[in-house]
Amino acid sequence: MDDRQFRNAMGKFATGVTVVTTELNGEVHGMTANAFMSVSLDPKLVVVSIGERARLLPKLKEANKFTVNILASDQQEISMIFAGQLKDQKKTVSFERLEGQAVIPGALAQVVCEVSAEHVEGDHTLFIGKVIDIRLEEGDPLVFFSGRYRTLAEETN
Ligand code: FAD
Ligand code: NAD
Repeated sequence: MDDRQFRNAMGKFATGVTVVTTELNGEVHGMTANAFMSVSLDPKLVVVSIGERARLLPKLKEANKFTVNILASDQQEISMIFAGQLKDQKKTVSFERLEGQAVIPGALAQVVCEVSAEHVEGDHTLFIGKVIDIRLEEGDPLVFFSGRYRTLAEETN
């Protein structure tokens, strides 16, 4: 099976889009990720999956803390910035603070986590995060499906 077929199949699973941030030596690093899942209610745990080549990976391992920011429908540009898809245009992103961690203003959910476990699986590392704080905002989500950004359609009766 080739990589494209695998990616095409996984792309049929419509997801939201998050930006995972971590901070080391006063510098915030963000990365777009859709491999995110809620894991446990008691205790409250989530998981993100970070590729072995991601520059975020060693920083997250060292910082031992991260935030997950679930993007709103008007934040496609933020997703593209943190996926390295707008590299030619140097964009500055301002962050807010929650529990001392950098979070993205306007994200529908800002979730602050401490790393509670790491599992290397193939070419990714799964980080289990113990949730220590959450901030919510109203709005519709940014959606990723079949390799393209989408938004939810209004239901018509
Ligand atoms: P870089 O390439 O260094 O960083 C990514 C970009 O973010 C750069 O352009 C950088 O300039 C910018 N940036 C970082 N910090 C800041 C800051 N403080 N201010 C402004 N800009 C900043 N990869 C995975 O491993 N797991 C996933 O679940 C995943 N899901 C994805 C979902 C989607 C929809 C997309 C489009 C990509 C996904 N990727 C995922 C791929 C991943 O986002 C890219 O490979 C990314 O470029 C890897 O980032 P990096 O950590 O190597 O760092
Ligand atoms: P795509 O067609 O590559 O992605 C479709 C789906 O395939 C994704 O939603 C994801 O579930 C899966 N996928 C893609 N690359 C993967 C990888 N390296 N490891 C595990 N699963 C992967 O969509 P696209 O628009 O071409 O993606 C843009 C870039 O972002 C590509 O370089 C892609 O590799 C990367 N990406 C990585 C992940 C990830 O590492 N988990 C997820 C999504 C996108």
